[in-house]
Amino acid sequence: MSEVDVGRPSTWLRYKQSMCQGCHGLCCTLPVEVSVADLQRMELITADEVRWSVRKIAKKLIDQGVVRSFRVRTGLFTLEQRPNGDCVVLDKNRLCVLYERRPQVCRMFPALGPRPGFCPSKRKSTRP
Ligand code: SF4
Ligand code: SF4
Repeated sequence: MSEVDVGRPSTWLRYKQSMCQGCHGLCCTLPVEVSVADLQRMELITADEVRWSVRKIAKKLIDQGVVRSFRVRTGLFTLEQRPNGDCVVLDKNRLCVLYERRPQVCRMFPALGPRPGFCPSKRKSTRP
């Protein structure tokens, strides 16, 4: 069996909750796409700024270094990542600083993600 490669979902393992124990949050090294509603919940934009054009919101957040890009076609913003691939809001202890306010896609992972039901953990489940 081939090694798990975070960037290649075809190599991921079928997810079981027990795999998260001891995992260094490898899912927080994947690109994260967020909506305007996510950005508001994350308090990256205010209630007033929600009414801005998406291009203006994108410019503000790209200038602030929290968003990497914006796709007009989907209306989704991609969060910035650190040089090592970590999500910009992952702290040095590998905890999400916005966990209670995290984006919908993070709440749903891995049911929602590049390969639903699979995740990039390198640890196999120790439980059935
Ligand atoms: S990569 Fe998988 S096992 Fe690791 S924290 Fe994320 S969901 Fe849990
Ligand atoms: S927003 Fe939080 S949970 Fe989502 S990828 Fe970033 S650090 Fe992880």
